[in-house]
Amino acid sequence: MELQIRNLSKTYSNGVQALKNVNLTIPSGMFGLLGPNGAGKSSLMRTIATLQEADSGSITLGELDVLKEKKEVRKVLGYLPQEFGVYPKVTAEELLDHMAVLKGILHKKERHAVVAALLQQTNLYEVRKKNLGGYSGGMKQRFGIAQALLGDPKIIIVDEPTAGLDPAERNRFHNLLCEIGEDRVVILSTHIVSDVSDLCSQMAIINKGEVLLTGDPLRVMNDL
Ligand code: ADP
Ligand code: ADP
Repeated sequence: MELQIRNLSKTYSNGVQALKNVNLTIPSGMFGLLGPNGAGKSSLMRTIATLQEADSGSITLGELDVLKEKKEVRKVLGYLPQEFGVYPKVTAEELLDHMAVLKGILHKKERHAVVAALLQQTNLYEVRKKNLGGYSGGMKQRFGIAQALLGDPKIIIVDEPTAGLDPAERNRFHNLLCEIGEDRVVILSTHIVSDVSDLCSQMAIINKGEVLLTGDPLRVMNDL
């Protein structure tokens, strides 16, 4: 599976040109999108996640036309947004179960098995019956990954996930990302260089809506 972005542009109604003729080929594995605040990372992530429109250009995921076949794309895509809010008064287990219903996993037994496996994978099984409001930042982010993994998506988009996490939480989160990146496309957007150099096999640098460099992190960092 490969994501191809061709000549993608977006100008917001306030006149800000957030994406300028973006071209990117994103293969399976961990792909880092590195850029400062305001570079256009979230705009690109939201567009890929079918949550906002582009003005021109195309995105394909395998055979799918991402900008047109939104419903199909949503079935194979998991998304952890930058501002990931959780409902404080439900438990991880309850919310995942509910989200699994929305994802179309209707059979109760199957759903329970899927939810339990995700809670285990993200190391939240022991706290599954606690309200999300009591979770630490790291736990909330891991819950975000659990919900993004529902339905076993082929592509996962993670927008600025480690902001505000302490080093131990960050480490744990990185390990989880590596695990899920083994057999899918994982796009990690970040302004932290080491997030990309530690984790990603391919990367792009984006600034002011333009892709400046792309390739293997070691090479790209050398070219800076
Ligand atoms: P990043 O995620 O790299 O911080 P964004 O994609 O959030 O970058 O923002 C890129 C530019 O677009 C910024 O100048 C930002 O202020 C602007 N922008 C983002 N979202 C909107 C919006 N909904 N309406 C208007 N301008 C926006
Ligand atoms: P972090 O990723 O923030 O380090 P951990 O999963 O390591 O979080 O949590 C540390 C310990 O605290 C775990 O053993 C967990 O069971 C417990 N814990 C954290 N938050 C809660 C909570 N809201 N309710 C009960 N136990 C919690």
